[in-house]
Amino acid sequence: MDTQTAVRVRFAPSPTGFLHVGNVRTALFNWLFAGRNEGVFILRIEDTDAERSKLKYEKQLIEDLQWLGLEWGEGIERGGECGPYRQSERYAIYQQYAQRLLDENKAFRCFCTEEELEQVRQAQLAHNEMQRYSGKCRHLSPAEVQDRRKSGAASTVRLRVRPGTVGFSDLVFGRIEIDTNQISDPVLLRSDSSPTYNFCCVVDDTLMKISHVIRGEGHLSNTHRQILLYEALGVSIPQFGHLSTILGPDGQKLSKRHGATSIEEFRKQGYLPEALVNYLSLLGWSPPGEGQEILPLDEIKQQFDLSRVLKSPAIFDTAKLDWMNRSYLSKIPIDALVEMAKPFAVRASLIPGQMDLQTKEWFTQAVDLIKTRIDYLDQIASEMAIVYGFDTDPPKLDAEAQDLLRNPEARAVALEFLRLVMERDILTPEIYREIVAKVKADTKQKGRNLFHPIRAALTGCGSGPDLEKLIPLYEEGSRLNLPRKVMSCRERLKAIFTIDDLRMTI
Ligand code: GLU
Repeated sequence: MDTQTAVRVRFAPSPTGFLHVGNVRTALFNWLFAGRNEGVFILRIEDTDAERSKLKYEKQLIEDLQWLGLEWGEGIERGGECGPYRQSERYAIYQQYAQRLLDENKAFRCFCTEEELEQVRQAQLAHNEMQRYSGKCRHLSPAEVQDRRKSGAASTVRLRVRPGTVGFSDLVFGRIEIDTNQISDPVLLRSDSSPTYNFCCVVDDTLMKISHVIRGEGHLSNTHRQILLYEALGVSIPQFGHLSTILGPDGQKLSKRHGATSIEEFRKQGYLPEALVNYLSLLGWSPPGEGQEILPLDEIKQQFDLSRVLKSPAIFDTAKLDWMNRSYLSKIPIDALVEMAKPFAVRASLIPGQMDLQTKEWFTQAVDLIKTRIDYLDQIASEMAIVYGFDTDPPKLDAEAQDLLRNPEARAVALEFLRLVMERDILTPEIYREIVAKVKADTKQKGRNLFHPIRAALTGCGSGPDLEKLIPLYEEGSRLNLPRKVMSCRERLKAIFTIDDLRMTI
């Protein structure tokens, strides 16, 4: 590919909050597009909103992108020949370009105050007219401008919008053309001479030789203004591809109400970056092969094509993300999974920060037992509840176990099991099988009627993982020095039968 057609795309976040799924999908599609076309992916920080931009958000978004594996070839922290890549460090450049447009009479100074502009807006509103700049200062003579400036009047710099139509062929939305009379002369420099988003964006996309601008649909209306700016600067115009808005399953704009939306939150909950990028890549795009959903990032990159991006809104469905994350988790070898689960288990006080060999072996067995039950790693705490001691006194049984143990026949099974366990010092899977055989003979119960009450009495739950695997966890766990107590089988059974309506004397 020669330099004329080299693909250069950018992700240009404003560091005014945590990176949410909408932004990240934009970053991802840019990254994929660059990768597919052997282009360059650039990270530029748009921090022109000095009040809302925070360094902590910039740091966080850098960390999030790195965590997701969306590395950039040029940009902030990495450098490159088109830097600096933080807009607040490029102010002198914007002033220079504004001056050039003023000198060429393609921009003009506007002395209207906020109050005057507001009055015009109100009048237009009252007459049901389109709200736009009146053009009042468009034709001030150079002498008049000079006089006003000398007298200290504040002014903004506006682009002189040309008459006619302005349009572009969006790579996703198709041709979009509008009459320029719908556009107010956009402000390029505010009265404090700070540059505006549209202006910085065009200057930077030009100087950074951006070939394709891929960004959210919310920017569609900016694009017309930006094209007029490219024209005024007499520079080439990149191609545009806008990505549809992401909605929640209820069809409303994705927000906090729908659960986690920031990458930070997903990371904290223990979603895997591979699963997240895989899921996000399918928000509005699909690979050419039917039914392909679980795809590694590299494969997605090989198949990515903007022509397969849909313009209809994409639906963010946490249930599907959960399914995908679970599928990725299931492929992780147990030792690696244990390492990943560790910080989550430490945070939930399930294991100590430093584990001896015995504890580590025990924890590995515990993770192995519940691993198919979790969608994301933070669920370790709730799924491990079945292994740890009861938090409440008297212990709380789940509704199914309670119902079951109130049934006299089921209770008889559980009590017989308890009696026989109490005769032993320890329960092993072998002894357990022996005892179950005896309970079966004594109570004449079998199948569900035999195993269900035993499970309920031992675990406090109506369902759960394999009892023969749980029993050694209870027994060995009770001998370990864990931050939260694990009760032995005898302790568990005794505790459960202290509940008032199950009370019994042992
Ligand atoms: N800073 C803008 C935003 O975060 C970027 C828009 C663009 O990509 O041009 O929405």
